[in-house]
Amino acid sequence: MKSFTYHRPTTPAEAVATAASAAAAPQHQPPGTTKFIAGGTNLLDLMKLQIETPAHLIDVTSPTLGLDQIQDTENGGLKIGALVRNTDLAADPRVRSDYAVLARAIVAGASPQIRNMATTAGNLLQRTRCPYFYDTDQPCNKRTPGTGCGALHGYSRQHAIIGVSDSCIATHPSDMAVALRLLDATVHTLQPDGTPRHIPIGEFHRLPDNEPHLETTLLPGELITSVTLPPPLGGRHVYLKIRDRASYAFALVSIAAVIQPDGRGRIAIGGIAHIPWRVEAAEADLPQGAKAVTTRLLAGARPTPQNAFKLKLVERALASILEDVKGPRP
Ligand code: SF4
Repeated sequence: MKSFTYHRPTTPAEAVATAASAAAAPQHQPPGTTKFIAGGTNLLDLMKLQIETPAHLIDVTSPTLGLDQIQDTENGGLKIGALVRNTDLAADPRVRSDYAVLARAIVAGASPQIRNMATTAGNLLQRTRCPYFYDTDQPCNKRTPGTGCGALHGYSRQHAIIGVSDSCIATHPSDMAVALRLLDATVHTLQPDGTPRHIPIGEFHRLPDNEPHLETTLLPGELITSVTLPPPLGGRHVYLKIRDRASYAFALVSIAAVIQPDGRGRIAIGGIAHIPWRVEAAEADLPQGAKAVTTRLLAGARPTPQNAFKLKLVERALASILEDVKGPRP
């Protein structure tokens, strides 16, 4: 592991100020990036493999930061602190009753041990599980820009089928982010200059284009402070995750859905793109059935021969959900 400086700020303002001053450190300081760390469930693995080699690590787990609460908002929604653990979020009675799709996505996302450590912000920022990204002997534009993409002509069963580029076909691994995209969450931050910013979740993650190493619209040193949810949608909440084995696996395809009694609703898809995939215009076709929706949802898809099966898998998984919600509540 490379050496790094370690900081433990006591307020969010101090955290972004520390990040800003570390990035501007004089030449005799270690060069490189600055990273915030909380649960560390992804970052520590990446550091051990020397895929992430931050020069400055800023530990944002101090309780004095005040980012570990779940609170009601004035408009009837919910404010989730960036440091709320996945376990606590999935178990919160308000989430279980009013945002059940979020609770189910989190529970489907990882083992209890990981959920006990992983935080709301960290879950949004976790990096792809593309095997070429983790193998430093392989080319990977995301890990080392300009080196190529091992997956494009290699093993690509798990990879993206839509929103891909010639530089990268990786998927976003988070289940929680798929539910947040469905719910129209907003990500709240402190920018490096200390001013707050509010980012709609649909503008938070980036498609790969020719810069797959840039995965979000966050500025360097910008700290996520909370995520807010609008008032509850009602309806039936479903999170269906299809994977190669029943647990400890990332999604081949996942679908977050909220379906109303009249058949209208929303869907967002995981496991098929570099971002949680949602096409609002396609949702108008939900009353017409899964085939109509997926025709619009997946228009322009560019699967590989190894993962073209995901096109049909999305349609069949959605058909299953639409059939199930006609029955009695479980
Ligand atoms: Fe790297 Fe993306 Fe290609 Fe995977 S798909 S090897 S993450 S560039």
